[in-house]
Amino acid sequence: MAGDLRFKRVLLKVSGEALMGAQGFGIDVAVADRIASDIGEARRLGVDISIVIGGGNIFRGVAVASKGGDRVTGDQMGMLATVINALALRTSLAKIGIDAVVLSAVAMPEICESFSQLVALAHAEKGRVVIFAGGTGNPFFTTDSAAALRAAEMGVDALFKGTQVDGIYSADPKQDASATRYERLTHDDVLRQGLAVMDVAAVALARENKIPIVVFSIHEEGEFGRILSGGGRSTIVSD
Ligand code: UDP
Repeated sequence: MAGDLRFKRVLLKVSGEALMGAQGFGIDVAVADRIASDIGEARRLGVDISIVIGGGNIFRGVAVASKGGDRVTGDQMGMLATVINALALRTSLAKIGIDAVVLSAVAMPEICESFSQLVALAHAEKGRVVIFAGGTGNPFFTTDSAAALRAAEMGVDALFKGTQVDGIYSADPKQDASATRYERLTHDDVLRQGLAVMDVAAVALARENKIPIVVFSIHEEGEFGRILSGGGRSTIVSD
């Protein structure tokens, strides 16, 4: 089965917003369970999976900064939010028998293990899904950048970015009915055209390390597995 796979080892970036469902805030457990089920299906296909989870459903540092507060403190609050989401996703994966571990870039040993590349690789070697929490551990970064960074550290074949829509469009398809979806782009295309899919630092890091980015809809049930198996709808960013 693994021989038919398009990618054997991937990192999936799940934004915090993907977990909130229609609630508009926080974690919708049914949605977390559905995403976990897609991850479980991909595991059963034989794909090694690690995950970077965002925190925007709970907190973003800019929210503090925009109201005159300290950006660094705001970003620390955002990083903590990603840990909450990581624990929720691990719980959803555990319910369906998927062995997953949370590694945080910010040490909190009573709650989860701390990130190091060696520990992450050792867990992956044992067949566990590794969930990276705490972003990069630094303010002024995003979890998209953390995703590109961890993707490079894990030596993945592709970075999957789950979004609200099924790929990268020429304009926001929710605002502009004439927007068209790209099948393939280069990292340079994304950077030069300023396509809003991941922040510039993330795309540049992926380009530097020759990591393809696969942009797909996280809300389309089973799509992750379909793309890994060679089908589905996505935009692939590669050189
Ligand atoms: N954050 C940070 N450093 C990082 C990653 C995240 O300071 O390396 C903070 C930042 O405040 C960000 C918040 O955590 O707004 C949540 O992450 P992000 O906005 O990337 O989450 P997503 O949009 O994917 O839900």
